[in-house]
Amino acid sequence: MIIDDNHYDVILVGSGAGGGSLLASLTSAGHSVLLLERGGALPESDQNLAEADLFRKERYHPAEKWFGTDGDPFSPQMVHAIGGNTKIWGGVLERMREQEFSGVKLQEGLTPDWELRYADLAPWYEQAEKLYHVHGVAGADPTAPAREGPYTAAPRPVELFLIELRAALERQGLHPYDLPLSWSDSAVDPTGDAELFGVNPGRAYPRVTVKENARVVQLHVNPSGQEVRGVEVDIAGQRWLFRGHQVVLAAGAIGTPEILLRSATEHHARGLANGSDQVGRNLMKPQLTTILQLAAAPNSGRYPRSHGITDFYWGDKNVDFPLGSIQSGGGVLQDALFAESPPVLSLVAKLLPDFGIEQLASRSITWWAISAVRPDPHNRVLLRGNQLQVHYTPNNREAHDRLVYRWIDCLKAVEADPLTLVTKAAPTHPRGEAPLSVIGGASGTCRMGSDPATSVVNLEGRCHEVHNLWIVDASALPSCPSVGIGLTVIANALRIGEVLKASL
Ligand SMILES: Cc1cc2nc3c(=O)[nH]c(=O)nc-3n(C[C@H](O)[C@H](O)[C@H](O)COP(=O)(O)OP(=O)(O)OC[C@H]3O[C@@H](n4cnc5c(N)ncnc54)[C@H](O)[C@@H]3O)c2cc1C
Repeated sequence: MIIDDNHYDVILVGSGAGGGSLLASLTSAGHSVLLLERGGALPESDQNLAEADLFRKERYHPAEKWFGTDGDPFSPQMVHAIGGNTKIWGGVLERMREQEFSGVKLQEGLTPDWELRYADLAPWYEQAEKLYHVHGVAGADPTAPAREGPYTAAPRPVELFLIELRAALERQGLHPYDLPLSWSDSAVDPTGDAELFGVNPGRAYPRVTVKENARVVQLHVNPSGQEVRGVEVDIAGQRWLFRGHQVVLAAGAIGTPEILLRSATEHHARGLANGSDQVGRNLMKPQLTTILQLAAAPNSGRYPRSHGITDFYWGDKNVDFPLGSIQSGGGVLQDALFAESPPVLSLVAKLLPDFGIEQLASRSITWWAISAVRPDPHNRVLLRGNQLQVHYTPNNREAHDRLVYRWIDCLKAVEADPLTLVTKAAPTHPRGEAPLSVIGGASGTCRMGSDPATSVVNLEGRCHEVHNLWIVDASALPSCPSVGIGLTVIANALRIGEVLKASL
């Protein structure tokens, strides 16, 4: 093992939404930071501008296999690169609703209290939106929480047929709104991400060192187990040891518990920082179903997500439990999630030559139905020998099914409206639920809380048992709302960054 000469103020593991954003906030204070990222730069051709052959490629699936609930190996969709999963995300950055912080009564039970309130996150949400150049309209989403002021930029124009579709939805009494989206000025990859807005500004500082293709394998602690003394890293098959004053894990909801579990010693047989036995447990991933609608005229198949609908977020007529949110899915040809999700369509697409896929894309309008799930300690990631095993049984199913069927009814009503010229009535609306492999939006596996018996990190993101170890990624989130968690991960990382800076 090579022991590096330097001693850094902060060693940061992972460069996605949590890690990349934290880097941006740390560097302004002039601290020495070592960023360790398992992947390298994602080639431009693989970024958000997906190609028509998306369906037939094992894109965004690292070579490794994990074991699923049934014990069979599967190939997860997971981006290991500078920027992490934000390199292929939809860039929809929404705030959690106020009630979700104190716990919400889902059809199947209560979600946990975060012990933080919306007001604690609100200033950080604002900073996160500025950092990621979020374009949106304040107050447009009827269920969004109150905000201090407008977004700094207005939504970008959408394709004409989407404007007509929005009017058609409004005629049904629905309230579609412009989804808040992170945008850059890049012509190559216009979607904002953690590389562009976090890592790149951060690495411009002289005291920041970024090591790519550097996979953290284990943390080494002092004899009492209360302090990390070394971070062991695999770089091109060679083991290195790096040392730092504070160590921050931002390796994502799978990568972070994996590192802690791999750091087990005879004194910490269940893994590091795991006295509560919660490391790896409470895995959540939002329930996601894509629904296809037939377009009356061809479209490009390459456009971002545009409209959100939250009319059923808290329920429906005769339904007094939350159902979830709806998003227009964006063009089929650049939606990495869509490629995973409807197995039937993927199968059809695999059998078709490119022209067929283009045709399928150009005649489709996609929608995503998104519903919350509850943390369940049985849903977990754990080590199976040297590999990962994921046990996952989704919950809150009935609410999600109701949302899907309710949305299909809305689509049928739109299609039956003689004023609507942009859609075509179809005998069926093909739909597909995201399988286990769609795990890039996972959370909860190192939950935060004030009680060391039931949580891994405290409310400031510091591990209860290891004083100089912090977690700033999706694994710390106690619950999974019906909107994407990206903005909450970023805001929470910025919030914890302030506390971390004060400790240096
Ligand atoms: C196709 C897709 C679309 C999405 N769309 C949206 C959206 O529109 N809105 C939204 O809010 N969310 C969206 N998400 C979810 C969002 O991307 C994630 O919630 C978010 O990126 C999580 O941030 P994170 O920091 O926890 O992890 P990540 O962003 O996944 O970053 C973790 C990083 O850690 C690195 N890493 C892992 N293990 C190690 C190790 N051992 N050593 C070193 N580095 C390591 C990884 O390579 C990665 O770079 C989407 C996800 C996907 C996959």
